[in-house]
Amino acid sequence: MPEEIFEGILGHGDQKLEILKQMKEGKISHAYIFEGIQGIGKSLLARAFARGILCDASVFSCGECRSCRWFQAGTHPDYFEVVEEKSIKVKNILELSEFLRTKPLLSRHKVVFIKDAHTMTEGAQNKLLKVFENPPAYVVIILSVDNVDLVLDTVLSRGYRIHFKELDEGAIDTFLKANYPLSQEERRYFVKFSQGSMLKAREIAQSTDSGTMIGYPEQIFNHVINKETYQLLKLARGVSSIPDLIEYLLTWIRDISILKESPGTGVFNESRLAVLRTQSLQLDTPLLMGFAEILEKGKRMIASNINPVVSFNYCLLKIQEEYDEYSSRSEIQKGR
Ligand SMILES: [Zn+2]
Repeated sequence: MPEEIFEGILGHGDQKLEILKQMKEGKISHAYIFEGIQGIGKSLLARAFARGILCDASVFSCGECRSCRWFQAGTHPDYFEVVEEKSIKVKNILELSEFLRTKPLLSRHKVVFIKDAHTMTEGAQNKLLKVFENPPAYVVIILSVDNVDLVLDTVLSRGYRIHFKELDEGAIDTFLKANYPLSQEERRYFVKFSQGSMLKAREIAQSTDSGTMIGYPEQIFNHVINKETYQLLKLARGVSSIPDLIEYLLTWIRDISILKESPGTGVFNESRLAVLRTQSLQLDTPLLMGFAEILEKGKRMIASNINPVVSFNYCLLKIQEEYDEYSSRSEIQKGR
């Protein structure tokens, strides 16, 4: 069965069908651009596709022929992968073009997979354009790209572009359920915070404190309300992923705001309804908006490479400061 080549890879039904159709019709392009956010399975799909192209039983991978076995073993002479930790440079593309210069040894094609092609330097991209100029008939180049803005239009226009969407929540839930001993509540959180990325879901599920992190927002706001700054700042020290914690906090703030508008409807942290209700009575809407803004600023700080713990502690101090002002204002009002 031709569909076998993508067996075990979740989601992306339409995109798989598109590729299989081309394979069945024998209309394989010289270049493919697999585009979409990080961690949704582009590399898995690219390698499965490469294996399928190289299989010599037919255009589909049988899993039994010499080509399939060599591919499986990572020793296929007609397959070349460009994987670099930081960026793909001119020398990588020169190696690639050297590899493509000679005819295939085992299969009818030679396949190159450039993983994270968006990390190619401009020089590397220009070199790759040269490769695209006059490729021998047997050449297939697959590029995976997380961010197309970083790739020259001239490169993008040379390939058949396939856009992979974020995975749907069902697919990620199925994956988590099959691989990790998580409660339903934990899975619900992790699915939400993975934002369609399998890699992200796996990272959250594997981080040792992700389960306890679910309890952090209520603790943080309790410390803020009780003005326990020392405990507040201590809390962030052991957190493995500050960006995830910030996202948790933002959901928590959203929930409190929802409860203030329309009590009891559609909160995400359903199981913590009682705490949310109590805190919603202690915090007003402008204050909550202010908290959210501070956290958004924290996200931007982290994105611009400021140390996450430093950024987060800045946020916590700001939040505490705003709360202190708010509470002294309400004290004065009460006193009148
Ligand atoms: Zn085969």
